[in-house]
Amino acid sequence: MSETQPLTKPVVAVVGRPNVGKSTLVNRILQRRAAVVQDVPGVTRDRVSYDADWNGREFVLVDTGGWASDADGMAARIAEQAELAISTADAVLFVVDATVGTLDEDEAVVQVLRRSRKPVVVAANKVDDQRAEAEAAAMWNLGLGQPWPVSALHGRGSGDLLDALLEALPEAPPEGDGELGGPRRIALVGKPNVGKSSLLNKLAGQQRVVVDNVAGTTVDPVDELVDIGGTTYQLIDTAGIRRRVKEASGHEYYASLRTQSAIERAECCVMVIDASEPISEQDLRILSSIEESGRALVIAYNKWDLTDEERRRYLEREIERDVQAFSWASRVNISALSGRHIDKLAPAIEEALEGWETRISTGRLNAFLGRLVASHPHPVRGGKQPRILFGTQAQSGPPKFVLFTSGDLDHGYVRFVRRRLREDFGFAGTPVPIEVRARQ
Ligand code: GDP
Ligand code: GDP
Repeated sequence: MSETQPLTKPVVAVVGRPNVGKSTLVNRILQRRAAVVQDVPGVTRDRVSYDADWNGREFVLVDTGGWASDADGMAARIAEQAELAISTADAVLFVVDATVGTLDEDEAVVQVLRRSRKPVVVAANKVDDQRAEAEAAAMWNLGLGQPWPVSALHGRGSGDLLDALLEALPEAPPEGDGELGGPRRIALVGKPNVGKSSLLNKLAGQQRVVVDNVAGTTVDPVDELVDIGGTTYQLIDTAGIRRRVKEASGHEYYASLRTQSAIERAECCVMVIDASEPISEQDLRILSSIEESGRALVIAYNKWDLTDEERRRYLEREIERDVQAFSWASRVNISALSGRHIDKLAPAIEEALEGWETRISTGRLNAFLGRLVASHPHPVRGGKQPRILFGTQAQSGPPKFVLFTSGDLDHGYVRFVRRRLREDFGFAGTPVPIEVRARQ
């Protein structure tokens, strides 16, 4: 399950034995004078990770001090924590107390760090003045490279330490989809004869936007700019919708290729479904590929005018059953022919895009995860109980979460976490992919 593609924000784990000043250093980096969280042995703090930044570079800072451990003996417990930290982090900030020198507990961590390939930056802490610098230099003997003298308490040397830390971080990956500016890219998709071209004509007929009037846009010749409810959208592959000629052979195949490429180019898909007919396999296939492609989704039940009261109630039930897996989608009941509820389309698209671009701070996310894990822990499997150590939102558009865990999670539990994420944070109209990075 675990992948190693870089996150948008790299993860830095702060490790070291108790009392070396990890929490103080974390607070220093976060530029907070907030109270240091008390270490309660065996109790997991509800917040262990934080959004941090230095010189404009963002990263996630993980304070491992509170992680519960099953190992016996102080050194073994600390080593186990360090191992967890290393398996989940992109870089490690190893904190030692320069005024005390290295103890067995430090050595236990050093062994784990040496075996790992992760970059390590050594913070020789409690160097409150010039005089103590010599003690910091003694930390070269750890064999982990240059020790950076700091005073977490007073801030001395913390800038240099953070510079060194940034150097050690992996390159920032380019931002993914979205946030390109210009009109939002919308695809009208659905199987033949559900009313896509009727809907397009209705939308484009109302107010056609001249491409040249919209600054800074390059619109594919197959696309059209259309005004929906006062907002200009770029409708993807309208040429494909307008073209009524059917390819002589392999029509289905080419149609599905076109659909897939439209989905991939879009930010939000409007899935048109014929409400006067039962939901088909083909409808469900297209819906699945929208979810898998991570696009925002509005389901438009078209031809609503063909349904009477009784039929609608029946449809509601059938729709609920067949499309249950997509109950997160924004939904409108329309008639492309009469224009009924066409005005509901724009708000539904906006709602879906809003959910799609939501960002949850690491602090909020971990407070949520802490509560969730406390009230609904993962079931024990083969005598082991996988724990969620912390999580981070790796990207938006769609909101994707990475959970760092002590073992693989059941699929059912991942679905449960997703459902609770939706309950707490919304995410209407957007898939919410979750990646589990289990310590191997
Ligand atoms: P942790 O257990 O590693 O998280 O350590 P804490 O951050 O709780 O700090 C342990 C103790 O060391 C506290 O009393 C801090 O005030 C103190 N401390 C932390 N950093 C420094 C420092 O730079 N200089 C001095 N003199 N004391 C420090
Ligand atoms: P496309 O293949 O998805 O582009 O579907 P079309 O837009 O060509 O529509 C297929 C047929 O359904 C046409 O005969 C349309 O007139 C009809 N149609 C489309 N939308 C509606 C609607 O809302 N109500 C009714 N009654 N018929 C519709």
